[in-house]
Amino acid sequence: MTPRDPRRSRPIGPGHGLAVSKLASRQYSGDMGAAQQGTAAVGRIVSINPATGVPLGDVPDLGEAEVRALVAKARAAAEAWGGVSLDERCRRVARFAEVLMERADEVIELVTREGGKTRQEALGMELMVVADLVRYFVRHAPKILAPEPIRLHLFKHRGSYLHFVPRGVIGIIAPWNFPFAIPMGEALMAVIAGNGVVLKPSEVTPLIALLAKELFDASGLPADLLQIATGRGATGAALIDAGIDYCVFTGSVATGKRVAAACGERLIPCTLELGGKAPAVVCADADLERAANAIAWGGLANSGQVCASVERVYVVKEVHDELVARVVAIASSLRQGDASVEGAEVDLGAMCWDRQLEHVAALVDAAVRAGAKVAHGGQRGKGGLFFQPTVLTDVRQDMEIMRKEIFGPVIPIMAVRDEDQAIELANDSHLGLLAYVFSRDKARARRLAERIEAGTVMINDVLSTYAAPETPWGGVKMSGIGRTHSAHGLRDLCQTRHVNYERLSLGAKEIWWYPYKAQTYKTLLRAARLLFGKRPWQR
Ligand code: NDP
Repeated sequence: MTPRDPRRSRPIGPGHGLAVSKLASRQYSGDMGAAQQGTAAVGRIVSINPATGVPLGDVPDLGEAEVRALVAKARAAAEAWGGVSLDERCRRVARFAEVLMERADEVIELVTREGGKTRQEALGMELMVVADLVRYFVRHAPKILAPEPIRLHLFKHRGSYLHFVPRGVIGIIAPWNFPFAIPMGEALMAVIAGNGVVLKPSEVTPLIALLAKELFDASGLPADLLQIATGRGATGAALIDAGIDYCVFTGSVATGKRVAAACGERLIPCTLELGGKAPAVVCADADLERAANAIAWGGLANSGQVCASVERVYVVKEVHDELVARVVAIASSLRQGDASVEGAEVDLGAMCWDRQLEHVAALVDAAVRAGAKVAHGGQRGKGGLFFQPTVLTDVRQDMEIMRKEIFGPVIPIMAVRDEDQAIELANDSHLGLLAYVFSRDKARARRLAERIEAGTVMINDVLSTYAAPETPWGGVKMSGIGRTHSAHGLRDLCQTRHVNYERLSLGAKEIWWYPYKAQTYKTLLRAARLLFGKRPWQR
């Protein structure tokens, strides 16, 4: 048996029969400064390369007092930062993207080692996403957060505008599947909006968060503005209780409900980015080569550990066999392995942790027992935490594999009678994050897209809107509440305040103020009938 860290389910030590890395494992105090000093009793969390089982380093498991101290530090820094002009904040945050590109190799190295993903995924889905998000928001935030006038349709003698002020401290609780792009995209938007941030990374990928903090400090941004609270679920719960002003949570539906309840108890507003079960609807007129490529990449990239992954395919029966053959051909050509090995050309890396691997294997086994056929893969890979790229056919809507989030490299494909049935089945889910439609007929594809219950529907493409920071990201139904990215996401990180002012003075008082007189009542009633009743020519 591989030894296990009792505090988490990942195997540690030279597991999987592989030798211990030459990389010296790193110990982080987590730059907790005063918050950490004298807290000898703090436990440690070991971070592990999921492809090899080799420990990479360890970080403190912070308790309530430490988290409170981090929030206090971030708040003090935010008070000064919120007073810096928005243009100046944007100018300073822009430097983060430059430092990220200067140190790209180092970040990619750690993302592949700690996150198990391939180098191309680390570059394209983590670093480039953040660099572009920074570039977009430093350019557009001044417009998005500029005071917004409101034209009043009735009170013509008065004017109104909205202005957007920092909330204070934003608590970010992040998952392990995009350990750099998700928390840092959110953190940098929060900082542009004038806030301080305390980030609780997943216990599975804490080192990446600490490296991100190093880059943040190296960019010349105020060091205390971003704090990292390493720890487990209890540390996340402590963060919500530590006096934050807003919580951006990304993770599972189950934890999201707990976070929503905790935020509700404290009346802290929150954004919840939760699970997905993205359907792909393939019409008879689809470009099947493009659809197959998109479905294979959309279902298998990052070993399927993407909230927007293609998790179920509904293909009209006329083109089912051809689509399956094409997806299987792609899946069987993929190379799987340890992407952190120098010069490795790998398409699929490791899964991030063993609990997830077991969940995927159990879902596939159950589907096969219930009658699904394995068209490709279906087994654990050799060595580290690998699961073969898998294509299942003969699946039914009542199977768990079509209802539960898989979050692994598995593509279940189901033949349907027609597009109407595909839409009906696509909507038969408690989740609604992303969805995909494949058709050559642009107008019909849009009509179908508009019938699907999801936060985002993409036509003839998959996943990529996460990399378009101007578009909103978030789900309907149990996939979450609120949006990240986009103008909506940036404004949510601010308090919206409304100022209503006098454009034209009407003297000492308005007509409806005291005292109430019979004549005033008659005048108001006449005015109301004129404004809201039938027009004279309609009577
Ligand atoms: P979890 O819900 O298990 O954990 C998410 C984060 O919450 C982790 O940092 C976790 O800490 C922390 N946490 C756990 N318990 C609590 C608690 N009681 N209070 C506060 N924080 C807590 O999700 P995973 O990390 O397993 O991530 C996978 C899930 O995330 C999938 O369902 C996926 O669909 C979803 N996701 C959604 C995205 C979206 O944009 N909608 C994007 C990416 C992922 P720890 O890890 O230390 O336990």
